[in-house]
Amino acid sequence: MKNKVLIFSAPSGAGKSTIVNHLLKSFSNLEFSISATSRQLRGNEKDGVDYHFLSSQEFSTKVNNNEFIEWEEVYAGTCYGTLRSEVERIWAKGNIVVFDIDVVGGINVKKLFGDNAFSIFVQPPSVEELRKRLIGRATDSAEAIDKRILKAESELGYSNQFDVILINDVLEDALSEADKIIANFINK
Ligand code: 5GP
Repeated sequence: MKNKVLIFSAPSGAGKSTIVNHLLKSFSNLEFSISATSRQLRGNEKDGVDYHFLSSQEFSTKVNNNEFIEWEEVYAGTCYGTLRSEVERIWAKGNIVVFDIDVVGGINVKKLFGDNAFSIFVQPPSVEELRKRLIGRATDSAEAIDKRILKAESELGYSNQFDVILINDVLEDALSEADKIIANFINK
């Protein structure tokens, strides 16, 4: 089998993580690529499970050693990146790599892997709905929500650079659409 990758990108609050977690449970040959980040560990997160948590210094060293296939300063002062070793680890097991990465990273990874990659843009039904979800989630201040909305508006402009746009309006519908898309890609 070819070494395949699946890329999920979305504005924050679009429901990307829910969809990715559902797919990881449904398809046993999908495996999540654990990114490296220079941000602090949050809540119940575990090092080496949710992310490889690195200091800014450690992150820079890995950039200089060419250990990332892509990396981005997603938020000012906070970097996220995909380690080459992570992709190789997953392929060595015969699994398909699943990326949950920001929109720019998603476009870059698609370019890198070409036809072996399938990229999915998870889109909220509207910016207003996105704002409602971010308020409902109650994890961000009003100021942080405004920032995320601004970022989302610019990210929505990149959606046509993905192989497919998956609109997450009614979650059950989005999940069954995602199941179909992934089954199709796996069997290609
Ligand atoms: P969070 O801090 O909420 O976990 O993630 C913030 C953003 O960073 C999300 O949009 C997530 O998709 C993105 N991200 C996570 N890992 C990577 C990565 O390896 N590369 C890039 N470019 N973005 C990432």
